[in-house]
Amino acid sequence: MEVEQDVAPHSTETRSFQAEVKQLLHLMVHSLYSNREIFLRELISNAADACDKLRFEALDQPALLEGEGEFKIRIAYDKDAGTLTVSDNGVGMSRDEAAENLGTIAKSGTREFFSRLTGDKQKDANLIGQFGVGFYSGFIVADKISVLTRRAGLPAGAGVKWQSDGSGEYTLEQIDRPGRGTDVVLHLREEAKDLLAGWQLRNLIRKYSDHIVQPIVMKKEEWKEDQQVMTDEDETVNQASALWARPKSEVTEDQYKSFYKHVGHDYDEPLAWVHAKVEGRQEYTQLLYLPSHAPFDLWERTPRHGVKLYVRRVFIMDDAEKLMPLYLRFVRGVVDSNDLPLNVSRELLQESKDIDAIRAGCTKKVLGLLEDLAENEAEKYAKFWGEFGRVLKEGVGEDSANRERIAKLLRFASTHAESDAQTATLADYVGRMKEGQDKIYYVTAESFAAAKNSPHLEVFRKKGVEVLLMSDRVDEWVVGHLTEFDGKQLVSVAKGGLDLGKLEDEAEKQEHQREEEQFKDVTERIKSALGERVKEVRVTHRLTDSPACVVADEYDMGGNLARMLKAAGQNVPVSKPILEINPRHPVVLRLRDEKSGAEGGHFDDWAAVLLDQAMLAEGGMPEDPAGFVRRMNQLFLAMGGEASRIILPN
Ligand code: ADP
Ligand code: MG
Repeated sequence: MEVEQDVAPHSTETRSFQAEVKQLLHLMVHSLYSNREIFLRELISNAADACDKLRFEALDQPALLEGEGEFKIRIAYDKDAGTLTVSDNGVGMSRDEAAENLGTIAKSGTREFFSRLTGDKQKDANLIGQFGVGFYSGFIVADKISVLTRRAGLPAGAGVKWQSDGSGEYTLEQIDRPGRGTDVVLHLREEAKDLLAGWQLRNLIRKYSDHIVQPIVMKKEEWKEDQQVMTDEDETVNQASALWARPKSEVTEDQYKSFYKHVGHDYDEPLAWVHAKVEGRQEYTQLLYLPSHAPFDLWERTPRHGVKLYVRRVFIMDDAEKLMPLYLRFVRGVVDSNDLPLNVSRELLQESKDIDAIRAGCTKKVLGLLEDLAENEAEKYAKFWGEFGRVLKEGVGEDSANRERIAKLLRFASTHAESDAQTATLADYVGRMKEGQDKIYYVTAESFAAAKNSPHLEVFRKKGVEVLLMSDRVDEWVVGHLTEFDGKQLVSVAKGGLDLGKLEDEAEKQEHQREEEQFKDVTERIKSALGERVKEVRVTHRLTDSPACVVADEYDMGGNLARMLKAAGQNVPVSKPILEINPRHPVVLRLRDEKSGAEGGHFDDWAAVLLDQAMLAEGGMPEDPAGFVRRMNQLFLAMGGEASRIILPN
């Protein structure tokens, strides 16, 4: 039994790709052929990553370098064999790593990706691009790929040959391989053989991979008797210098964009970027990008942080979570420090004051970039907001030091506009405030439609007072932390007693008082009919069209938040709602004259229906839905012809 285990790793073995890989391969080859040249960028990018990884591992374990500390990527082609080879002397792969890395897709968001596929070639090509095509893009141009590799530090006999025709299976075979690193050999499809030309490849390298830090070398070619022939001399094709270390004036827009595609693992162009050298107590360079679309894993519980840390041009780590606050987790790019020690570890990063200073600096830079877009490039900012607004909103609670700056960057839907587009700033709102208005009003609900149609808005509509409509889940968190803006309190229209202050005149106030007295008896009867289901029953003036609504007490949790937390499985303290009734509504007037159950009337049922429909109207559920339906039906029947006598407002 045990013998088999010993033998297996040395023999040739055939395995199946993970189902997702098969699906992706099929899609890619059929959707991306018109973009076929991207494969070279992807393979070079992997080679560069492999070199970076080894350089970092070798900081603690210099023996891994096996005496060869200069990293290099080589592109070679063989016209006769029809092959194109991308080689590197990076970290390489063990047998298990090759199976894991080249046989499965480990990316988070994979399921999300497949669920979004439409079957439309053009659209899907776009999606695959966003998902990151990676290694498998080789199959766009190759009908067979061989990967010859050895993990740095393993003996020469532990080399691995991975091979596949990209249909469903791959083989793994043990080989001897003296040099560490990886050769990816593409056996080109007939129609892709035009790529086997030195000038073609050089062009592609300069176009897509100029910024790669390692030298990308090719054999120099000469003209001899009207023919291009290869010499034995190596020639570096790319610039091979860290793009971020060059002065801004020497970097072109295209170079910035193509560098983004590499660091951001993105196929699309960036929305904007900022490149700066910071001097002072901490010296570092930052090149930070805003992507133009949200990645698939934006909402993962342990999100990737897309900023790479370098120390004096040496790659230290990917996704360094300490370099950006969570609410800016969509930022991609590079930070290169002049002061941190080269052997800085993740643990050290956790406590480093220097890192804190770098993070504060990067945060300010990104906020500055956003402010600049908001002010000068409204369209871009709107695009940014659509993709990442919900993430930026988290910053209101997370980053109290920058709360005011973030508040100015927020955008909301509001009753001022018809559409659900989030375009209103808090400053716009303040500028539109009515004479006598001293608060910023908002409503939170589960959806835009529920917010927009909330009964709580009725009086505000009548008076022409704007209300912000909040329906993103994170909005409850925003209003929990942002209690005022520009000296004006943010107030929920669904909480506490309604105090319109100077928005109401004396006559209106007196009228309200009169109505409250007139309905005192009714509110008391409703309260005793509903008992413990409500905290209080009172007359309201916030309604014009609806008979009743529920509100939360000033310091209780609002209904929307309570429902959200419950849905997320959290234990929420039960706070009873306050039922408010509209003294001018015909249903309420009708109720006033109804006898109680004991006297042969339906008062108790009416009261229960009033509460249940108020719950429904704000997006909640009646406590006993079946009971609600039964009572409604009983009331319909009891009313008979009477129903036609109740004239409802429109
Ligand atoms: P990504 O680069 O986004 O991780 P890829 O599909 O490009 O995805 O590559 C998958 C994995 O295969 C890489 O993460 C890496 O672990 C491994 N890999 C690919 N090419 C190389 C290489 N030249 N050297 C070492 N490992 C590699
Ligand atoms: Mg890759």
